[in-house]
Amino acid sequence: FLSTGNLGRAVNTLNQESRIKAEIINFRDFGTGNYKQLDDYAFGSGGMLFAAPQLKNALDFAVQKSGAEKNFVLYPSPQGQLLNQELIESLSNQEHLIIICGHYEGIDERFVEHYVDLEFSIGDCVLTGGEIPAMVLIDALSRLVPGVVGKSNAVIEDSFYKGMLDNPHYTRPASWEGENVPEILLSGNKNEIQKWRRSIAVKRTLSRRSDLVSRAEIRDYISGGVFLTLISNENINPEIFTGIENLRALYGLQRPFLISKNKELREKFKTSGFKILGNFSKVLEALNNQALVFKIYSKPCRNSFHCLEAKRKILENIENSKNEKFDNAILFVLSNDESELENIDGISVYLQSDFNNTDLKLDLKTALTLDRILGKR
Ligand code: SAM
Repeated sequence: FLSTGNLGRAVNTLNQESRIKAEIINFRDFGTGNYKQLDDYAFGSGGMLFAAPQLKNALDFAVQKSGAEKNFVLYPSPQGQLLNQELIESLSNQEHLIIICGHYEGIDERFVEHYVDLEFSIGDCVLTGGEIPAMVLIDALSRLVPGVVGKSNAVIEDSFYKGMLDNPHYTRPASWEGENVPEILLSGNKNEIQKWRRSIAVKRTLSRRSDLVSRAEIRDYISGGVFLTLISNENINPEIFTGIENLRALYGLQRPFLISKNKELREKFKTSGFKILGNFSKVLEALNNQALVFKIYSKPCRNSFHCLEAKRKILENIENSKNEKFDNAILFVLSNDESELENIDGISVYLQSDFNNTDLKLDLKTALTLDRILGKR
């Protein structure tokens, strides 16, 4: 397992710094008595368990051998936290991991309580031992080490990397048993292929694992751009606009719109980078009436949706488009006077913040909106 394939490369051939160092410790060496005993009957009744003193001796040996300042001790167990990509990423930041593999009924609970930092499970099924879960963990960790997987882009596009499922893949022959690969993949048009892949990934995620949506990172799946419209008739502090301007690059926003009846404000922000318009219908026209509109409220109001539901609606909009080449655009509308949103057609979304509406400045409200809906996983 540790000597072939990608993992073999990670363990043996990468340079010292990026290499994974893996070592197997034979628990048998820590058995006691004439029979090198490791296990014993469970008190009460039941099967055999690995005993705590022997486990502790093996752990001490592993800690000493690692030489690490901090060892993070894991016990694979059907009762543990379900292994997922977030947990793998978190564990990849640990200096050194020690995995204790159980057998039979498992291991003495006192050892778990005293020395195990985290129990992890690979799924709701019971295996005979912890070795396979340990291998699953090591393999998944290795993919995050630069150089282990040939193309780092392949890792980024994989299932779960952005919290979404991957798209299907095809190779030669282009026609097999009467089935042709999707034509777009033969077109050579990289942009269109990318758009197709993302739209299929969205469809798969919604139909197979819709539970992933709330924690998925969806920005890259919105091909038509993300737009922002601010409505304000008050004389706003220019710092707010600077704040919003800074958010543009972070979340990949198009040039934002400002709608204001206030002449002074319009004059003041003429050169701010915002496109200033007289009313909301002009914004829609500028977007060819194609954007999905979200009105952002600070608190729940009638017919409003939780902001995480907005993510689902964005993905459903991509899924429902018959044409996979469709460019889906999103428009967020915010105002410091939320009654301004009432006459606008769109999906109402609330941010559920602990601030009062009046406290929540436009730049903060924008940052919350962008992060909750488009933010990194
Ligand atoms: N009595 C234990 C229970 O029901 O929770 C099951 C013990 S199992 C038969 C033996 C060992 O296999 C466990 O100690 C654990 O290390 C490993 N194991 C079994 N299923 C697992 C799973 N789904 N995830 C992680 N480890 C598992």
